[in-house]
Amino acid sequence: MICVICHGNEIELQEVREELALGTDIVCVPIHVLVCQTCGERYYDRKTMRHLEEVERQLREGNGRLREVGRVLMYG
Ligand SMILES: [Zn+2]
Repeated sequence: MICVICHGNEIELQEVREELALGTDIVCVPIHVLVCQTCGERYYDRKTMRHLEEVERQLREGNGRLREVGRVLMYG
């Protein structure tokens, strides 16, 4: 597989945290996706997209299982 952005060929399956906005909060969702090791572009398969849509739906309905792991701070 060749990266469509940078044409690099080092694309590896990696665990990343997808960030979903929930009002003014950010929810980190750990997922496994193919990531270009050169430019960082992520390649989502259909299953992962569906999973993220499902998580988003759960969060909107207030059903997501969430735990607090830190703070997000804004400077200025
Ligand atoms: Zn790339």
